[in-house]
Amino acid sequence: MTKKSSARVRVIGGGLAGCEATWQLAEYGVHVTLYEMRPKRGTEAHLTNGLAELVCSNSFRSDNWEANAVGLLHEEMRRARSLILSAADKHKVPAGGALAVDRHNFSSAVETALVNHKNVEIRREEIHELPESETSPVVIATGPLTSPGLGAAILAHSGEQSLAFFDAIAPVIHKDSIDFTTAWMQSRYDKEGPGADAAAYVNCPLDKEQYDAFIDSLLAAECREFKEWEMDTPYFEGCLPIEVMAERGRETLRFGPLKPVGLTNPHASAKSYAVVQLRQDNALGTLYNMVGFQTKMKHGEQKRVLSTIPGLENAQFARLGGIHRNTFLNSPRILDPLLRMKAQPNIRFAGQITGVEGYVESAAIGLLAGRFIAAELSGASVQPPPPNTALGALLSHITGGHLSGDGSFQPMNVNFGLFPPLSSKVSKRERKPAMARRALDELAGWLASDQVPNSAALVSRS
Ligand SMILES: Cc1cc2nc3c(=O)[nH]c(=O)nc-3n(C[C@H](O)[C@H](O)[C@H](O)COP(=O)(O)OP(=O)(O)OC[C@H]3O[C@@H](n4cnc5c(N)ncnc54)[C@H](O)[C@@H]3O)c2cc1C
Repeated sequence: MTKKSSARVRVIGGGLAGCEATWQLAEYGVHVTLYEMRPKRGTEAHLTNGLAELVCSNSFRSDNWEANAVGLLHEEMRRARSLILSAADKHKVPAGGALAVDRHNFSSAVETALVNHKNVEIRREEIHELPESETSPVVIATGPLTSPGLGAAILAHSGEQSLAFFDAIAPVIHKDSIDFTTAWMQSRYDKEGPGADAAAYVNCPLDKEQYDAFIDSLLAAECREFKEWEMDTPYFEGCLPIEVMAERGRETLRFGPLKPVGLTNPHASAKSYAVVQLRQDNALGTLYNMVGFQTKMKHGEQKRVLSTIPGLENAQFARLGGIHRNTFLNSPRILDPLLRMKAQPNIRFAGQITGVEGYVESAAIGLLAGRFIAAELSGASVQPPPPNTALGALLSHITGGHLSGDGSFQPMNVNFGLFPPLSSKVSKRERKPAMARRALDELAGWLASDQVPNSAALVSRS
């Protein structure tokens, strides 16, 4: 990528994704105007005026690239000269195997690097509208708390019914951690779905004693409280948390998502009293979500309560459940594989609004959006990262790897279940390190096609 462009790119939102996109563009020699509405207009969660503010925890989660997909994403972003990772490394605080940061120093390092960059102009302004007919590139990275005016404009362009709602997330489990000596594959009444598959669901049976014990532990579990600003966001009867359903009556779940009808357990002659079903969640078939199990139980409690379900005793969770207010697009339907809005391709989206979940994932999508625009402006062909990399797996998931674009798309953290399987057989213990090595090898090839100056040096200089 050599040719520099005189086009000015607008990035809206100075959070994790917007700052990373701005940095990547600026480092390629592209002029950027970054718009951030704070301090003129605040959000319900941000407390400072700083760019790249961490709104809650100060952790970027595991930093182990061989054992954890978010650690691998860190490493890939370092190699792609990420500003966010560079600032995090510089301001890390002791946190065992996790990468945690001093939030104020981190935010101020990111802001200083951008303020001092000759290609960056920062404007403290709220943007209310999407550009109507212009063709110059825009990145929208306004996050889960996108201001209402811009949210309405995005909604109008998207053709969707809604963008902001309670994000009712059901836990997602790695299929290979389910015990199939207890569980079995079958669709209710053997009903055939796409591809004539009559065995699309994983079923976990409970007898009366196990069901009663499950309901008791559900009712006793500790739940997360809603924040005050979340109180007036509606949640729908159709996706009530399981613990709320259980509070309505001990049998409610057994007549709802856990009904045992139309299913035959091949491992037992007695009829099941209740059945928990899991539905395929990604195109690769490596992840399954727990049907109807949206929950606001605390994370530790979810692991404890859900592992009492027969077949899930050793379940590995790719994502735990939760309910909070969020703003995100139905990306598989609205975005193309290079993060462009299909209806208006000069507009790209980045960050949590694309349906990724978490600080690191949000910044990673900002990194890609910035690189894609820089490549486009230079006249180079735009290559997405290989799907075997963490960057590529995450991108594939939000733009097409999810099973359908039918509105069931839910936000996702990076995890090894999003990666295509290895071509050769390795032991379970070796699987993640082998996937991680494959990712870094393939990333090297992808990065070799361009030349970005060393951002780490620039951050420490600023
Ligand atoms: C309450 C809450 C707690 C969270 N806790 C965690 C956590 O602990 N760990 C984790 O990994 N993830 C957490 N997340 C999820 C998510 O990863 C973070 O919200 C992350 O900051 C998303 O990055 P982003 O860049 O997409 O959005 P943000 O970092 O939110 O950045 C968006 C920016 O856009 C600005 N903006 C919005 N509208 C406009 C507009 N119209 N014009 C101009 N500027 C605008 C905002 O002021 C903000 O600075 C949390 C989310 C929420 C809502």
